[in-house]
Amino acid sequence: MTTILGDDKRYEHDRKARKKYKLRIIYNKSGCTAAGHCVLSDPYNFKLDEEFKAILVDGTPHPTSKGVFVKEIETDEPHLVINAAKTCTPRVISIVDLETGKRIAP
Ligand code: SF4
Repeated sequence: MTTILGDDKRYEHDRKARKKYKLRIIYNKSGCTAAGHCVLSDPYNFKLDEEFKAILVDGTPHPTSKGVFVKEIETDEPHLVINAAKTCTPRVISIVDLETGKRIAP
């Protein structure tokens, strides 16, 4: 079965292994077009404000980039936030794997 993660199986949820992933979520609210896909994919890290723009739950404002919010998480369900980034049409959500330092989504 093809998933939104494509051929990259590294971040798929493995109920037995329960590997923890340390990820950084970077969200640019200025570019949000308020479609809400991120909330459907990952309701733990995203919710909508009164204008239906996404809020990064417990995100902190970036010190120099206005409208950008950052959050670091440790999770055994990395596919949720990766799907949120990949389904965001204007691509204003980025995910970085803190172990490798590489951007993994979108
Ligand atoms: S998926 Fe992207 S554009 Fe849609 S609400 Fe979330 S951040 Fe905004």
